[in-house]
Amino acid sequence: MKHKPRKPVVPRIAQETTRQAIIALLAEGPVSAKDISIAVHLPEKEVSSHLEHIRRSLHSTGAVLAVTPAECRACGFVFAKRERMTPPGKCPVCRSEAIDDPLFSILGMQEHEPD
Ligand SMILES: [Zn+2]
Repeated sequence: MKHKPRKPVVPRIAQETTRQAIIALLAEGPVSAKDISIAVHLPEKEVSSHLEHIRRSLHSTGAVLAVTPAECRACGFVFAKRERMTPPGKCPVCRSEAIDDPLFSILGMQEHEPD
């Protein structure tokens, strides 16, 4: 059983800035939902929903949200079919719970000079 932190109240006004911060992290290199969660102070569940939005919004820019699938550290099983943004809890092959989180990054994003 994992201890779940209480969901903080996120002001609506912060949504866009949070998304920009997540996009900046993704553009720098592969990060897990956990990494993002720590960086932007949001629960991983919130991060996952931002990632879904970002994936859709990138579509029109020509950039893509690249996903490195989760992988079992014990036997090397790759969770390739898993389309969800949340990491799996357990390996279906060896039952190990030592699973490397899926990693996300943005590929093909245009560099923009800040105004
Ligand atoms: Zn395994």
